[in-house]
Amino acid sequence: MSFLEIKSVTKHYGAMRALGGVSLNVPAGSRTAIVGPSGSGKTTLLRIIAGFEVPDTGRVAMAGQVLAEGGNAVPAHRRGIGFVPQDGALFPHLNVADNVGFGLARNDPGRQQRIEELMDMVSLDRLMLTRRPHELSGGQQQRVALARALAQRPKLMLLDEPFSALDTGLRAATRKAVAQLLTSAGITAILVTHDQAEALSFADQVAVMRAGLLAQVGPPSELYLRPVDASTAGFLGEAVVLPAQLDGGWAECVLGRVPVNDKLRSGEASIMVRPEQLEWQDVAAAQGVVDADPCCYGTVTDVDYGGPICGLTVHLKGADVDTAPLLVRSHGIEVPAVGATVRISVRGQAHVFAGA
Ligand code: ADP
Ligand code: MG
Repeated sequence: MSFLEIKSVTKHYGAMRALGGVSLNVPAGSRTAIVGPSGSGKTTLLRIIAGFEVPDTGRVAMAGQVLAEGGNAVPAHRRGIGFVPQDGALFPHLNVADNVGFGLARNDPGRQQRIEELMDMVSLDRLMLTRRPHELSGGQQQRVALARALAQRPKLMLLDEPFSALDTGLRAATRKAVAQLLTSAGITAILVTHDQAEALSFADQVAVMRAGLLAQVGPPSELYLRPVDASTAGFLGEAVVLPAQLDGGWAECVLGRVPVNDKLRSGEASIMVRPEQLEWQDVAAAQGVVDADPCCYGTVTDVDYGGPICGLTVHLKGADVDTAPLLVRSHGIEVPAVGATVRISVRGQAHVFAGA
């Protein structure tokens, strides 16, 4: 059974529909990431789970207890849910110790020890306890906000874009540390982010939100490799979407004859490959290679040198003018020159979108 159950939740702000009927199950001890563009309703959903907002209709239950239904709601402070808001929202006039211990009783004799434990949990030096938030880096402030949320020993932790203010390296390290901390403490977590790489790496379950609705929910690799539509595909990473003719598990398209992950469908369809599924070879090097693999030929029109990974723009030979150039990923050790002719082959299967 799911730990957290969200069933048909709707929420309006005046005439504005923020959530249009969201259902989501979160297993105990798991990590869920909710991704979606700005304004899609991610924060609203978290605030409803936390108890800062009441849904118009629908139901929220945790560990078998109803938290919100039919306009009735358990108050936020009785839910046992930790919340790390988007900007950390530390109290600027309080030092770190008082921020972390904010929810702990002042006269509790174990208060100081608990604050120190929480500092250790989030890997912050105890020497920082007397500092004010403005004397900390962005990453340290987020750790204080996390420690404050952990102080209540929550069963569920909600994180609203907590890493968005951090720069790339620190962001990945902090995310990993937080994920490990939550898992080892047995805390179920929901992370909201607009960063697809962050969602895919953090979560066991990813939910894609669009205009107040969940477009797709599933394991990261499922969403990345088998998105429901082109828009979801594009949200989770770069995608090459092509018209194709299907027949018995194969697609005829500008890339040649490509195997697809749907053996039953036939006729016209839209297929997708990820740029890293496309491999290039210099035609000279490719000479003598039997064209048994699905392949096609093209001209490199642009090279975006990105260090470890470079982006090649390839115009396919024989493609009509409407066909968008192909984006191909390449490692940076050897890249073809602009103007070179390359042979493009496809690794693995292309994904067939449901529908027309
Ligand atoms: P996200 O977190 O995905 O960016 P939000 O949940 O914050 O999205 O917002 C969803 C929609 O609801 C947006 O259009 C936003 O403007 C609107 N909204 C959010 N909070 C309020 C509020 N308190 N009053 C009025 N409209 C709101
Ligand atoms: Mg938000």
